[in-house]
Amino acid sequence: MSTSPDVLIIGAGLAGLSCGRHLADAGVSFRILEASDGIGGRVRTDECEGFLLDRGFQVLLTAYPEAQRTLDYHALDLRKFSPGALAWFAGRMNELVDPWRTPGGWGAAIKSDFGTLWDKVRVARLRSRLRRTAVEQVFERPETSTRDALRAEGFSEEFVHRFFRPFFAGILLDGELKSSSRMFEFVFKMLSEGDAAVPARGMGAIPAQIASHLPEGSIRLNAHAESLHENQMILRGGETLTARAIVVASEGPSAAHLVGEAEPASRSVTCFYYSAEEPPVAQPAIVLNGDGAGPVNNFAVISQVAPSYAPAGKSLIAVSVLGLQQLTEQQLGGFIIAQMKNWFGPVARSWRYLKSYRIPHAQPQQFPGALEPPQRVVRVRPGVYLCGDHRDNASIHGAMVSGRRAAEAVLADFAR
Ligand SMILES: Cc1cc2nc3c(=O)[nH]c(=O)nc-3n(C[C@H](O)[C@H](O)[C@H](O)COP(=O)(O)OP(=O)(O)OC[C@H]3O[C@@H](n4cnc5c(N)ncnc54)[C@H](O)[C@@H]3O)c2cc1C
Repeated sequence: MSTSPDVLIIGAGLAGLSCGRHLADAGVSFRILEASDGIGGRVRTDECEGFLLDRGFQVLLTAYPEAQRTLDYHALDLRKFSPGALAWFAGRMNELVDPWRTPGGWGAAIKSDFGTLWDKVRVARLRSRLRRTAVEQVFERPETSTRDALRAEGFSEEFVHRFFRPFFAGILLDGELKSSSRMFEFVFKMLSEGDAAVPARGMGAIPAQIASHLPEGSIRLNAHAESLHENQMILRGGETLTARAIVVASEGPSAAHLVGEAEPASRSVTCFYYSAEEPPVAQPAIVLNGDGAGPVNNFAVISQVAPSYAPAGKSLIAVSVLGLQQLTEQQLGGFIIAQMKNWFGPVARSWRYLKSYRIPHAQPQQFPGALEPPQRVVRVRPGVYLCGDHRDNASIHGAMVSGRRAAEAVLADFAR
């Protein structure tokens, strides 16, 4: 690789890697400068005592169009969550069956007291409408908050509280459902057209697969871009790099600092991992806090979905708590286990704490207005481009699309 590539990309998250991949396909030379010690950004997996710990519980929705276009799902060895969800309320675990994807599930779905009959009819109606709507059209629909959109659909307050609130809080990291209804509809559409899944070797396998298509030596780690001046980048330590184009692919707050824009607000999350001798739930399902009491919003025994996440004979539990929480690890852990004891009995006391992650900027906040327009410009000024989930939408799909769009803009400008 030449010492002076045509393009410098700041950040080796999904956006930066996707941008690099499209540039590589077009034969344009580039180098990715990554501040941390590894690739993947917010999608990284740590190995800890034989467990695979994603840096914050997250899932790939297999219907994401950009992921379908670019990832090799077979090679990722995707492990799927069961459709539907479990939710704790009324002092017991309740199952929300997805009758469209659960063989023989219609009887159970109709009989279940999870939601009124009208809620079920409305789920069917929403699902049918969104399946007939293209992704681009979903992002063009009139925008309101998710809560107001659910009200307008006519869902009962109880169903919203027990299902939509914890479910979409787990995905949009927004317990108040203030996020844009466009994002809610997009995620709902994705969930009705595909699965929630994790790669057998952890979420970090996704960026690793994209990086495997890049020319050798195209990523430089531990290289922190401090500032930009026209087509020059100054790294921490003072080194200056020059290129025809610079693509800023760092997360919203860092990108805002580099290009002089206002910082987007952040959605934060805290994830605790535990090891258990026995899985507290047998199903490979996402478990929701449907009564709203206690810190835990959602929970999953990931090893029931992907056994490779845990050593033989052990179960890996991921617990997500919204926000950063001002408590110490020990204090918050105490509240988590007290809540889990309520759900699963005294056995929760035997779960062994493995590790926790506090992620201040897990996603950019996308309230109504933030997705207007749905795709923000990627050309900032001549020679400087931006990508990242903050340019499209707060998801793996959005990050990957934004990386492609930035590469297309660079290529179009080079061709002039
Ligand atoms: C806990 C959690 C749960 C999530 N759940 C889901 C989910 O279930 N489904 C879903 O689709 N999405 C989910 N997301 C969102 C998704 O992971 C992100 O939208 C996506 O990974 C963002 O990718 P990105 O490339 O835009 O940014 P990032 O992944 O943040 O990459 C930016 C990179 O830039 C680097 N960088 C920053 N500053 C500099 C600098 N100055 N110099 C050099 N490098 C720099 C960073 O180190 C980082 O590697 C979740 C995110 C988190 C954290």
